[in-house]
Amino acid sequence: MASTTARLDLDGNTINPMTICMIGAGGFIGSHLCDKLMNETPHTVLAVDVYNDKIKHLLEPDSLPWAGRIQFHRLNIKNDSRLEGLIKCSDLTINLAAICTPADYNTRPLDTIYSNFIDALPVVKYCSENSKRLIHFSTCEVYGKTIGSYLPKDSPLRQDPAYYILKEDTSPCIFGSVEKQRWSYACAKQLIERLIYAEGAENGLEFTIVRPFNWIGPRMDFIPGIDGPSEGVPRVLACFSNNLLRREPLKLVDGGESQRTFVYIKDAIEAVLLMIENPGRASGHIFNVGNPNNEVTVRQLAEMMTKVYSKVSGEDSIETPTIDVSSKEFYGEGYDDSDKRIPDMTIINKQLGWDPKTSLWDLLESTLTYQHKTYAEAIKQAIAKPVAS
Ligand code: NAD
Ligand code: UDP
Repeated sequence: MASTTARLDLDGNTINPMTICMIGAGGFIGSHLCDKLMNETPHTVLAVDVYNDKIKHLLEPDSLPWAGRIQFHRLNIKNDSRLEGLIKCSDLTINLAAICTPADYNTRPLDTIYSNFIDALPVVKYCSENSKRLIHFSTCEVYGKTIGSYLPKDSPLRQDPAYYILKEDTSPCIFGSVEKQRWSYACAKQLIERLIYAEGAENGLEFTIVRPFNWIGPRMDFIPGIDGPSEGVPRVLACFSNNLLRREPLKLVDGGESQRTFVYIKDAIEAVLLMIENPGRASGHIFNVGNPNNEVTVRQLAEMMTKVYSKVSGEDSIETPTIDVSSKEFYGEGYDDSDKRIPDMTIINKQLGWDPKTSLWDLLESTLTYQHKTYAEAIKQAIAKPVAS
């Protein structure tokens, strides 16, 4: 429940209730942000999305304590004239809408570029023209590959953080060639970042750009054949969850050697709330939001998820828990990968005093408990169903 005592920002000033136009509110991050805003703040949310399944629990029944503070607007921002009106009557716009699953970047590059660049243009324009604050969700993928990945395999410089730590204000953006369509997403996100930055510099747009580093937790993506298409390929958490639920080996793309840092969605949402409520400290900044302490290779992630899932489900793991697959087989032509992603935390720490708290084991335990509770029975029934002849 929202507390009745006045909320104070990091400088001790009272935070006035605001109206937030949240585009993409029905997705993974949006649903957690809506939860947080309804449960802990007095702010009002105009939730814009084409789907609302992940926020249904906040919208129904009408008797919920926050019922007057969240309104769902089912609209596609590609082609809906209501968007400008919603931005105009809000104090702040948060844009989360995007195609953001790697399986789409090389197979649907046009949709990916339109979604991450063209469709975001009116949002930036309406915010700029109406002098409204914008928090735009970009991605850690704008960094692309690390400088270190181009050094010889045995170079001692590969161990030097200067060659792999990703810093908002100094790291370059290193993408593969144009045929490697994997980078269509990163490139579109980079260009919209540059446009927002330029709107700030030339027209005074008050903006914050967020670069999430693998936020994971409950409600991320979908389980193929249960609440998403059978042939769909979600991000790694949902792929591995699906394999574990179905007692299939986890597929390691190109040996699972790539490295990632994973942050718990609930920690990351704390950072977003600080940005929302401390505009003086957040505006004009680009923030890495991740957990540098939770680094693993994808192979290590698979091994840890297998152990955690055994613990939460009470089932032994299968005899061959992982198998290797080539990226061409798994994602098709044009796939490429980020080798390593460790966020530098200096700027977010200095501006907002934020630090992530949850270890990888703990966040996997709560997330896989949710996955088991939500999907195990449905998967059992789906497997038991006779295949139509
Ligand atoms: P998500 O796919 O769960 O959510 C995106 C939401 O946007 C979906 O509900 C979708 O229906 C909606 N949407 C897309 N196009 C729309 C349109 N034209 N009109 C209306 N709604 C539309 O993804 P997420 O993980 O919640 O990511 C949110 C944002 O954060 C994205 O911009 C993504 O690029 C960025 N991001 C997330 C991560 C992460 O770790 N989850 C990492 C890097 C970047
Ligand atoms: N990956 C994998 N098996 C899967 C799904 C993904 O090995 O079933 C790998 C993928 O190649 C990448 C990493 O896991 O190296 C993270 O993939 P994700 O889709 O979560 O997104 P990314 O971090 O690349 O944006």
